[in-house]
Amino acid sequence: VSEPVHNALNVVVIGKQAMNWFDAMQKAYPSVRFGTPDTWSDPLTVQAAVVSEPNALSLRPYENLQFVQSLWMGVDALVADPTLPANVRIARMVDPDMPISMAETVAAYVLWSHRFGDVFQRNQRDQIWQEIAQPLARRRTVGLLGLGTLGSQCARVLIQLGFQVVGWSRTAKPLSGVQVFDDLHAMLDVSEIVVNMLPLTEQTRGLLCARTFSAMQPGAVLINVGRGAHVIDNDLLEALDSNHLRHAVLDVFNVEPLPTVHRFWTHPSVTVTPHVAADSSQETCMPVVIENLRRFAEGLPLNNLVDRTRGY
Ligand code: NDP
Repeated sequence: VSEPVHNALNVVVIGKQAMNWFDAMQKAYPSVRFGTPDTWSDPLTVQAAVVSEPNALSLRPYENLQFVQSLWMGVDALVADPTLPANVRIARMVDPDMPISMAETVAAYVLWSHRFGDVFQRNQRDQIWQEIAQPLARRRTVGLLGLGTLGSQCARVLIQLGFQVVGWSRTAKPLSGVQVFDDLHAMLDVSEIVVNMLPLTEQTRGLLCARTFSAMQPGAVLINVGRGAHVIDNDLLEALDSNHLRHAVLDVFNVEPLPTVHRFWTHPSVTVTPHVAADSSQETCMPVVIENLRRFAEGLPLNNLVDRTRGY
C-alpha cells in the first residue's frame, strides 16, 4: 500500500465543461478540495488542475502546480502554454467511448463521401439528375493521418465496412489490415478519402497545405477531425475552387466558432460541423479523472501522460 503523498489535495477547476462537472467531481472524491479560480485565496496551495478549453495564462497563478488533467484528448493548447513550467505533468483525456464516437463520425462521412452524398446534395440544389456509378467500399481506399487511439479505432471500423485502409503515423504501427506508409505523399497518392486525426504539434501544424493537397488524387475528399491549425485555409479553398479536391468535411477550424464571414460557411464543396466529431461524456470521463487524481494523491504513476517534448 503506497503512502498518501498529498494529504490535503487542492484542485483548481478551469473551463466551461470542467465547471459543469464540478459538483459531480466533488461528490465522487469528497476528500479532495475542488475549487474555482475564485475559491483559492492562496493559489500556491493548489497542486493539481482539471481543465477544459484552457487558455494561456489561466494557470499562471498556481506556481506549485504539479499536475494538469485535461478533459480533452487534444492537449495542444496546454502543451503550447508558455506559462506552464516544463516539470508540470499533463494528462490528456483518454475516454473509452471517445474512439467509438469518433469512429461513428468518421464512418458516417466516409460512407457519405464514398456514395457521393456531397455531389448529390449539390445536384439536388441545382435540380440536376446525374447518375454516378457507385463502386463498392472494397474498391475505395481511405487514408488515415494518425493511427493513435482514434485513428486505430477508425481503421478497424472502416475495414469492417469493407474499405481499403492505408495510414500514416510518426512511428511504425503494425495494424491488422492497414497498409502503413512512411512517406506521407505516397499515402496521399493512393487515397481517395483522407481523414486527418493527427495531434497538433510543431511538426503537424499547417501540414494540410498546397503541397499535400496537390499530392492527393484529383477528386479526393478531405475529412478533418484533427485540429483546424493543421489546415492552411486559403490553400484548401484554392484546391476546392479549382475542383482538384471534390469536397471537404471540416469539424475543426483555425478560429472556433468559425467566424460568420469565413468562406467555409457558404462554400458548396464544404461541410461544416461545430467541433463535435467525438464528444466526451461525463459518465465515462469522470472515472478517468477521479482515478488519475487518486493516483496523484497517492504518488502512483499517472495515466495518459503527455510527452511534453514530443507535443502529444
Ligand atoms: P494519439 O496520441 O493516440 O495518436 C496520434 C497519432 O498521430 C499517432 O499515430 C502518432 O504517431 C501520429 N503522429 C503524431 N505526430 C505525428 C507526425 N509528426 N507525423 C506522423 N504521425 C504523427 O491521439 P488521438 O488519436 O487520441 O487523438 C488525435 C487528435 O484528434 C487529438 O490530438 C485531437 O487534436 C483530435 N481530436 C479531435 C476531436 C474532435 O471532436 N474533432 C476529439 C478528440 C480528439 P505514433 O503512433 O507514432 O505516436
